[in-house]
Amino acid sequence: MSWTDWKWQLQNRITDLDGLSAKIHVTEEEKRSFPKTNEFFQFAVTPYYLSLVDSKDHHCPIRKQIVPTESELEHSSNEWEDPLAEESHMPVKGITHRYPDRAIWYLSHVCAVYCRFCTRKRKVSEPFETPNKKEWEEAFAYFEAQTNLREIILSGGDPLTLSDEVLNSILGRLKAIPHINQVRIHTRHPVTLPMRITDSLCEVFARNFPLYLVTHFNHPKEITETSAEAIRKLVTRGHVSVLNQSVLLRGINDRTETLSELNYKLIKIGVKPYYLHQCDEVFGSSHFVVPIEEGIQIHKTLRGFHSGITIPQYVKDLTGGGGKVLLVPNAYEKTADGKYRFKNFKGKEYDVSH
Ligand SMILES: *Cc1c(COP(=O)(O)O)cnc(C)c1O
Ligand code: SF4
Repeated sequence: MSWTDWKWQLQNRITDLDGLSAKIHVTEEEKRSFPKTNEFFQFAVTPYYLSLVDSKDHHCPIRKQIVPTESELEHSSNEWEDPLAEESHMPVKGITHRYPDRAIWYLSHVCAVYCRFCTRKRKVSEPFETPNKKEWEEAFAYFEAQTNLREIILSGGDPLTLSDEVLNSILGRLKAIPHINQVRIHTRHPVTLPMRITDSLCEVFARNFPLYLVTHFNHPKEITETSAEAIRKLVTRGHVSVLNQSVLLRGINDRTETLSELNYKLIKIGVKPYYLHQCDEVFGSSHFVVPIEEGIQIHKTLRGFHSGITIPQYVKDLTGGGGKVLLVPNAYEKTADGKYRFKNFKGKEYDVSH
């Protein structure tokens, strides 16, 4: 059946205003801003993920993640195209090597769904940004030469847009490098395109055991029978360890009750909550931001009342490329101009707006 076929879901993605209006009620404001936002960051959603939207509810947490709004066009002075300075930490095209022992490798610039708060708006959905075979060979050569690297993180875009054969070959080659201790995959497909988790993909994963997969659920509504089944397969057939990272998003999951329900449901389907991210200072995202103090308060209310295994670490990826810091009370100083001053893992100071 086509609905359960991941290629059908990708080929039948809804990518324009007419397609979207045919499925859900789009407001006049959304209609006006659609062509303008599309210039900066493409719109696309799988029929599966769109079916999770409550078409009558304008505050639906799924809808808010995918439907562009006028607020995206507001670009304030503290927002950046590349907030984490990923491009400047690139020794080879497609690799960000910020921490000594691990590197991120962007294997694809295609995602099943484009999330409106995405940090990598500058490159996802841009097909000409996709690395080619020659660049892949350069990446392998770099991983082999850098003997301090212990972990490679496959990311994108979504690396699971690649075929099973290509993934098998990449995983096998990485695992054959003696100093590589572990391989991790960052993918939102269990949430936005769960049909991608096929038996044959799980065979590839099992063959390359052990693998760590970090997915990206933001709201309990995303935990459906289909996504739970994808996780069950990953764990029982693929023998994969599955973790989750969420982004703290205004109006989507910024309440203790929502986060608690999400985290308990994740544990129930076999996923360990890993990170809760502060929303990055990427252009057009200020309407999603929860201030750091408020985020710390929300996160603090989880502790004690909820099982420790359900609680992710609340982190901020420092604007300017300092890396991640834990967001806990007293983790920062407030500067005279109202910024937050953090020290990164190397002791270097970074001032950030949120
Ligand atoms: C987040 C990130 C990682 C992974 O960090 P962990 O804390 O190990 O999950 C690695 N490299 C870069 C550039 C990152 O932004
Ligand atoms: S799946 Fe990840 S990389 Fe792709 S648009 Fe969403 S947040 Fe960005």
